[in-house]
Amino acid sequence: MNITPIPCLTDNYSYILEDEVSKIVGVIDPSEAKPIISFLNKKKLKLDYILNTHHHFDHIGGNIDLKKMYNAKVVGFFGDEHRIPGIDITLKDNQKWKFGSSLVNILHIPGHTSGHICFFFEKEQIAFTGDTLFSLGCGRIFEGTHKQMLSSLNKIKKFPKNTKIYCGHEYTYKNAEFCMQYDKNNINLIRKFEDIKKLRSNNLPTVPSNLIDELNTNIFLRCDQNDLKIKLNMENEEDSKVFKKVRDLKDTF
Ligand code: ZN
Ligand code: FE
Repeated sequence: MNITPIPCLTDNYSYILEDEVSKIVGVIDPSEAKPIISFLNKKKLKLDYILNTHHHFDHIGGNIDLKKMYNAKVVGFFGDEHRIPGIDITLKDNQKWKFGSSLVNILHIPGHTSGHICFFFEKEQIAFTGDTLFSLGCGRIFEGTHKQMLSSLNKIKKFPKNTKIYCGHEYTYKNAEFCMQYDKNNINLIRKFEDIKKLRSNNLPTVPSNLIDELNTNIFLRCDQNDLKIKLNMENEEDSKVFKKVRDLKDTF
């Protein structure tokens, strides 16, 4: 599987997927059609599928134009049929869906929106996490509860450790600053922040991240860890209370 991040709008990433075996081509979360079309033109590719993680405008903005131009099929969560433009194929939680020669596991991960899903390519160990898990961060909770968001993140935490994480936005630098504020002695975090600084000063994307890095450095994935609870003066508190505290702190960071 060939994956190319396409920067869109101010800080979004759409991703072009090319299956070398079946020659099937897809795009994840096309914020806008133009940069997708120009990439496909340059590489002389058509488009078979448009995959949406959730219904927000910065993830579906290119759906209709791309669908018209390539006769591509729009794929999204069945509960969001009414708000994913042009939807053709509806998927449910835990459903397996075939993209070319790959098997994709669909996970319902509510919290940011009620119908958010993750596309997990099993054999390739690749996850598209949209606005639920970011590198060193997580999405804002718009349509769910903190408990829901935490259990969605916990689903992602169970993927194989080497899973590559492709998220919806380039928020990594700012997220790293936030993690550093509350977890500054975390050696893994210090190292990752150095890598991020280098990438961003060369205007390079910080995606994909990988799950093991995120488990070690992303403060939102560490809310069950005692060392972090102690740093936050929340020793013996429930994980969901710690998660809510961290999310609230980030909302005003
Ligand atoms: Zn969103
Ligand atoms: Fe977004």
